[in-house]
Amino acid sequence: MTGDVGDLMTCYFGPVRYDIPRSIATDMSMSVRYHAGMAVTVEVMPLASLVDLVNEFGTVPREVAGEQDHAFPPADGLRLGIPDELTRDLQDGSLQRVADEVYPVFSATAPYECARQVTKLLAASRVSPLMTLVDDQLTATWSTDAPDQAVVAAAALAFRDHLGKNGFGRLGVCTAPNCADVFIDASPTRDRRYCSVTCQSRVRAAAFRSRRARTA
Ligand SMILES: [Zn+2]
Repeated sequence: MTGDVGDLMTCYFGPVRYDIPRSIATDMSMSVRYHAGMAVTVEVMPLASLVDLVNEFGTVPREVAGEQDHAFPPADGLRLGIPDELTRDLQDGSLQRVADEVYPVFSATAPYECARQVTKLLAASRVSPLMTLVDDQLTATWSTDAPDQAVVAAAALAFRDHLGKNGFGRLGVCTAPNCADVFIDASPTRDRRYCSVTCQSRVRAAAFRSRRARTA
């Protein structure tokens, strides 16, 4: 690059570093804003929040636990990956709908089924990669032009990241009786079967009782 280009800004496209004039970066941001219209910026939903969302709001986990008539818990502890203005407007019903839409990714028993479900969510939420300026920094972001699909988009991105890094078999549904809660399997042996230590202890205690009854 030659001549006086003014103030340079360092940015990265993937692993490649560029130093581009701030004026160009600003133009890029303006064109992005123009084309994106009513686009909503979406972040990858933290996995812990994704799990909590499904277990607290999903129809299957609530019904299997016999909690379908219980009130939904407050959602303000969840980090959903969407702007605060959208979070404030969320109804319990929409969170339940999202939880039900993403549940099949956790319960998929084959890699192709898992891939199909995540791809379906990515497509339905119309999430797309974007380059924008945040606090004057060129930033890689995600966006959807369907604000009512923003939570699905954030969840789909979480699945895409997690499965892309870890492969199939790192998500699951609890196998304990009366529980269908989902979990992320971070065990070294990839054989986690229960959502929690509570369910694991419950199953062990039941097995112990049944062995003792047989030998009594
Ligand atoms: Zn469980």
